[in-house]
Amino acid sequence: MLAFGLLAIDLLLGQIDQSSLVLLAYLVFGAIAYTEISHGVEQTRRRVGKPGHVDLTSVWTFAAAVTLPLSLATAAVLLIYLHFYVRVLRPAKTPLYRQVFNAATVILAVHAAGAAVRYIELLPALRLDSLQFVVLIFALLAYTVVNTSLVVGVVAMTTPDMTFTQTLMRRSEGVGVEIATLSLGALVAVTVTATAPIALLFTIPPLLLLHRTVLSRQLVQEARIDAKTGVLNSAAWHLEATQTLDRARQRSNAALLLMIDLDRFKSINDTYGHLAGDEVLAALGQVLRAQVRGADVVGRFGGEEFVMLMPNLDRRVGVAEVTAIAERVRQAIADIRVEVDSPDGPITLNTVSASVGGAVYPHDGEVVTTLLGRADKALYAAKRAGRNRVRMVDSRGAAQLDDSDRESR
Ligand code: GH3
Ligand code: MG
Ligand code: MG
Repeated sequence: MLAFGLLAIDLLLGQIDQSSLVLLAYLVFGAIAYTEISHGVEQTRRRVGKPGHVDLTSVWTFAAAVTLPLSLATAAVLLIYLHFYVRVLRPAKTPLYRQVFNAATVILAVHAAGAAVRYIELLPALRLDSLQFVVLIFALLAYTVVNTSLVVGVVAMTTPDMTFTQTLMRRSEGVGVEIATLSLGALVAVTVTATAPIALLFTIPPLLLLHRTVLSRQLVQEARIDAKTGVLNSAAWHLEATQTLDRARQRSNAALLLMIDLDRFKSINDTYGHLAGDEVLAALGQVLRAQVRGADVVGRFGGEEFVMLMPNLDRRVGVAEVTAIAERVRQAIADIRVEVDSPDGPITLNTVSASVGGAVYPHDGEVVTTLLGRADKALYAAKRAGRNRVRMVDSRGAAQLDDSDRESR
């Protein structure tokens, strides 16, 4: 709303001269040309069937912010995002409101950058003098800070279990890309105000390379995830678990490793079919991800077996404490309700449960494989004891804990 209000004020107050209109045309042309050319890069993503897109339009919107009156810069954002929506997002079935939100945050960022430029009193037209560099840096910072905090703020508000700082950390890699993009935008700004605006086409090849870099990083990231459940796949889990354990070693922390195996999962498949079984696995993935805090690592070990590593425990952690953590996970799984199709129509499955075996670093083992082996034995004990329960390895001599025993359901 604020962004669109600002647009209306700009349109009322703005004085528009012809040279600005020419610049606007060049920038919008650059953006459209880039989006069309970059279709080829994005084809890689579609070939592997991954959703999403890379949005590097801030090259053009930032250049617009620092070279145009704000009314025209706002018009540039709207034109560029309209084209981006029609050509990229709508075919990819991205909801319109997301793009409206993006455009609105970019308009606010454009105003922040424009205000930074005016504050140093170098506009309306950028001059090629030594101050220009400083102006562009200020504008770049203003743009990044406003855009990032708006996006991070909204994501943090709409994702209940994530704080502003956590969301910011997750986005910190994206900020590097943002700064690279805006730097190219600064070069475009300098180019279009110099004698040959068409030279902005020189930014397209490096921009394509940046695009490819972002895309391959996204694909590498997604290749670590098990598609059915959304948790790490086995190879990625092993890698992260090893690194996490190394950190626990350096910090002299303890860590809890849980091995989780669904109870009588075969009979769910046999009764309701494999698709229903897959839905149970997806629900389980969701539940486990919701249990994850901070540095915890959760992965699919294989089939209907999952693993969790929870570091950052105190070295003196007691058996009762780790059992309570494992119990919390077991209970969350037992609470799973999944709607599945049955011969008599859809029914709600409420019999999902899992057995959990737990081992503690460093008491029960120093490396991931040892801990896995011991947690697996504890898991086997939990199965034998009747399923839907927790068993901890207890290398400190106590007998298997019984306080986690539950009546098998
Ligand atoms: P227990 O309580 O002893 O663990 O019994 P269980 O039936 O869960 O164990 P079992 O190892 O006999 O069966 C595991 C089943 O998991 C067999 C396999 O068909 C099923 N399964 C493994 N991966 C998938 C999958 O991706 N989707 C579906 N639907 N089923 C899977
Ligand atoms: Mg199994
Ligand atoms: Mg099983």
